[in-house]
Amino acid sequence: MARIFCIANQKGGVGKTTTTVNLAAGLAKLGQRVLMVDLDPQGNATMGSGVDKRQLAASVYDVLLGSATVAQARTTSDKLSAAGCGYDILGANRDLAGAEVELVGVERRERRLKSALAEVEAEYDFILIDCPPSLSMLTLNGLSCAHGVIVPMQCEYFALEGLTDLVNTIRQVRANMNKDLAVIGLLRVMFDPRITLQQQVSDQLKAHFAEKVFNTVIPRNVRLAEAPSYGVPGVVFDPSSKGALAYVAFADEMVARIATL
Ligand code: ATP
Ligand code: MG
Repeated sequence: MARIFCIANQKGGVGKTTTTVNLAAGLAKLGQRVLMVDLDPQGNATMGSGVDKRQLAASVYDVLLGSATVAQARTTSDKLSAAGCGYDILGANRDLAGAEVELVGVERRERRLKSALAEVEAEYDFILIDCPPSLSMLTLNGLSCAHGVIVPMQCEYFALEGLTDLVNTIRQVRANMNKDLAVIGLLRVMFDPRITLQQQVSDQLKAHFAEKVFNTVIPRNVRLAEAPSYGVPGVVFDPSSKGALAYVAFADEMVARIATL
């Protein structure tokens, strides 16, 4: 059965999507069977995986509304398979922004994704869900089906503040919808060791959250930022870049981590 992880942080632009697609590619490279679910109407994870969000025959929106199954809506990218990093993609586009309103009044609307994924769970080792930068109904759909949350964060002054809201939401989801939900770990991303403040925040994180902080640190690396415009994760775009190597190391750490869960 797949282990399901949300990549979440309600703060925008912290590296959620970069983490989702590169972890997916890294895990695939290690031979893991991966489904990547884009739960953000921006569709960045879809585009960043080489799938044109404007051309989707069916998307996660159709799955949430019940007009398509995951098996019908998922797709793949040749560019990823050719690089030996192929994973399945349940894409998203702007349609998804309407789901929140359209699902008002629908029973168990926060659990739509959970029941849809249940049908394909056996086909994967990992299901990774890229969440939007909000604690919305979409994010709740992700959290209610996940075993764990991966929180990418930049080591900046305000990083810890946002974490409190996320931790409170996770606590509520655990109490009301998904008692198994856990924060698997905090992932330090866009890290620049030359900046003293980042070192200090990193030390604070380790002091507060101990083993919840992943060992792997993702450096700031321009190759990771360039990759999306080529429709591939950095792990595929430039496998020997520091950013790509760090994400493959993170994939390794995740594989080891789930063996202990
Ligand atoms: P949103 O909240 O809008 O969904 P996000 O949290 O998904 O954003 P990303 O889109 O992954 O964040 O990253 C934000 C920007 O930072 C992007 O331009 C991305 O290419 C860049 N970026 C992410 N990680 C790195 C990194 N390690 N090094 C350099 N640039 C990075
Ligand atoms: Mg994103």
